[in-house]
Amino acid sequence: MPNINPHLDAPPHAGGRQRTPSDYVQAIREGDRSSLSQAITLAESTRPEDQAQARHILDACLPHTGDSIRVAITGVPGVGKSTFIETLGGRLVEAGRRLAVLAIDPTSERTKGSILGDKTRMGTLARHEEVFIRPSPTSGSLGGVAQTTRETILLCEAAGFDTVLVETVGVGQSEIKVHSMVDFFLLLALAGAGDELQGIKRGIVEMADAIAINKADGENRAAADRAQAAYQRALQLLPPDDAERTPPVLTCSARTGEGIDRVWQTITAFCAAAQDDGSFEQRRRQQAIYWMHQTIEHRLQQDFFNNPAVQAALDDVEAQVAAGTLSSLAGAEKLLAQHHGPEPETNT
Ligand code: GDP
Repeated sequence: MPNINPHLDAPPHAGGRQRTPSDYVQAIREGDRSSLSQAITLAESTRPEDQAQARHILDACLPHTGDSIRVAITGVPGVGKSTFIETLGGRLVEAGRRLAVLAIDPTSERTKGSILGDKTRMGTLARHEEVFIRPSPTSGSLGGVAQTTRETILLCEAAGFDTVLVETVGVGQSEIKVHSMVDFFLLLALAGAGDELQGIKRGIVEMADAIAINKADGENRAAADRAQAAYQRALQLLPPDDAERTPPVLTCSARTGEGIDRVWQTITAFCAAAQDDGSFEQRRRQQAIYWMHQTIEHRLQQDFFNNPAVQAALDDVEAQVAAGTLSSLAGAEKLLAQHHGPEPETNT
């Protein structure tokens, strides 16, 4: 499948010489798309030397990050995320904003990049100069993919994008990670026969800063209004967030564009209020700590599974655990011992 960005796989060289991190940073800040893409590719790479270089680039970019509004758009496949982003994105660009659209797709390994991977989706948006669209990395663990997406947000900010939309499929696990990288978490939902509230007990609805019932058009309009009322009632029953605020429920049509401006106004009003009362910065600070912990976990896990001694023993231990001849706990200890080396003798 062709990449949206033709420079995506270009080698990170300039004029035959290896580019230094400061070459990248300068080019990224000057708005050079291919350098931005290459830096993201380095961040996505699993090669230690690429990762080290990505780290240097990120460090140098850090003073130039933070100046954007970061919004997650989530919802089940088919709810209309791409259509919504296309419609909203067009308006944002018209209003003079520079837009980066990123994706986290935990299913991409299986479906080979179901979101944003297809060139025909968001085709109109992709043609704008002011828009940068980056599909989800097509391999890697959810943790790794989410980590990279967070780094990509920072790189895009350094490149001068003032609005970052992160698209993700509503399958649970990924939401927590996405929630931890954005200023606003928008859940798109659909009116459906009796299943409006299916997600309500789940964490996803609780995480939402707003819910928009999409496809509120044509014959579906009345049902969307009913779903809106049902969501509003149900949300009253949930404990309010720290700011004692129940998330607003809106209706919109990504297809006709009706209600889209209202959704965006809700997002900007929320962020403006959060900036005024300090919760915007506080949320970002907590997120920075979360990502430090995530990075540590991820790195330790990588070290462990890349250790040749662990790799050599893994299949055998897994087979024993599967056969029931070794408990999960004993199996884990055996592998950890491979990683750390044998425990020191205590009785000598
Ligand atoms: P995604 O999987 O969440 O990204 O959903 P898509 O944006 O691909 O939309 C899925 C289908 O719903 C497509 O056929 C869209 O044309 C349609 N769709 C999206 N938004 C609307 C809407 O507001 N109204 C109607 N009637 N159809 C929509």
